[in-house]
Amino acid sequence: MNILVINCGSSSLKYQLIDSGTEEVLAKGLCERIGIDKSVLTHTPAGRDKVKIETPMPNHTVAVRLVIDALTDAGHGVVKSLGEISAVGHRVVHGGEKFASSVVIDDAVLKAIEECNDLAPLHNPANLIGINSCREIMPNVPMVAVFDTAFHQTMPEKAYLYGLPYEYYEKYKVRRYGFHGTSHDYVSARAAEILGKTRDALKIIVCHLGNGGSVSAVDHGKCVDTSMGLTPLEGIIMGTRSGSIDPAICDFICQKEGLTPAEMNSVLNKKSGVLGMSKVSSDFRDIEAAADDGNRLARVTLDAFYYSVAKYIGAYAAAMNGVDAIAFTAGVGENNIAGRAEIAKYLGYLGTEIDAERNNVRGEDRVISTDASRVALLCVPTNEELAIARQTVALVK
Ligand code: ADP
Repeated sequence: MNILVINCGSSSLKYQLIDSGTEEVLAKGLCERIGIDKSVLTHTPAGRDKVKIETPMPNHTVAVRLVIDALTDAGHGVVKSLGEISAVGHRVVHGGEKFASSVVIDDAVLKAIEECNDLAPLHNPANLIGINSCREIMPNVPMVAVFDTAFHQTMPEKAYLYGLPYEYYEKYKVRRYGFHGTSHDYVSARAAEILGKTRDALKIIVCHLGNGGSVSAVDHGKCVDTSMGLTPLEGIIMGTRSGSIDPAICDFICQKEGLTPAEMNSVLNKKSGVLGMSKVSSDFRDIEAAADDGNRLARVTLDAFYYSVAKYIGAYAAAMNGVDAIAFTAGVGENNIAGRAEIAKYLGYLGTEIDAERNNVRGEDRVISTDASRVALLCVPTNEELAIARQTVALVK
């Protein structure tokens, strides 16, 4: 079966067409600047050059139509017709408490996703637009929603409730939800596989360290805690997000700088994290280069980032009363060799021992701890699109 995986944002749409039999990516691409000027579709058929199609995309339905045209094009296409696309898997950011797993999309599901909009006002409406556009163009193709929050729905109340008046949970469902769930699920399962064990027998900590980052505790296959919260702002220091801070800072800075709460929220999401701390960049490669050049603030920023990850690992080892494996994934986790080594320095008390030679790896599945290490450390590339395709197949078969 060929599965089209769609990740729709407010002005962009990413896609991959995956053959679920071989799990090969047949083509992938990105529509940018949907609804604004200079829209462009970049389409890459596997093993061939990418094609750039610059054409107006006034809305997402036009973008989806262009994606289908690109996939079925006589020149750069990879299938003959729409009939060769068996199902569509949509990434949906927030499923609230309504969705603890992926689901086949129907009108009732769409309504339930819409009811989660106020929990993710920037993301869910865009995801819904993508789903509706695909339904319009492919009315007979089954569609599945795969939620970023679903994997974390197994967290117990003690982990997801905040120390706030309970009525905010009752009235507005204010609680920890967690994100990157598809990645935490995929990577924890893959880590167990690499270790030749079943996930149900292991305590695993997954460190998803990308531009956005989160750490999760997966106890015998179930997520029991995760660092992101009601929104993706909580947790470790990220590329541009602050991560956890004293909440009173918001009011303090609002008064000092004359900011509205919405403006403060934007500072916390877009101007903070390693970007704000280092004054260099949100990209870890730039910060590393600056630190190597002697930039003191860049060095402190990296130290603070590694320290924040190490503290969550410690917290989750405590939450699970032990840990068998710690997996690093996403851009920084998969590629930043020095960063993994720095984080590992904090983990000696757990009996972990990183192997410098094994750790010399980027973007490959590998155990990076010594044979004597009491906790296995692993580099595990995430693959959210493949995970979405697998879940889609499982539901539409
Ligand atoms: P997201 O999906 O959240 O946008 P990614 O998982 O793609 O983010 O991660 C992006 C981050 O990964 C960037 O900060 C980038 O600097 C970092 N990264 C990518 N390659 C490397 C590398 N070789 N060394 C260090 N950091 C890297």
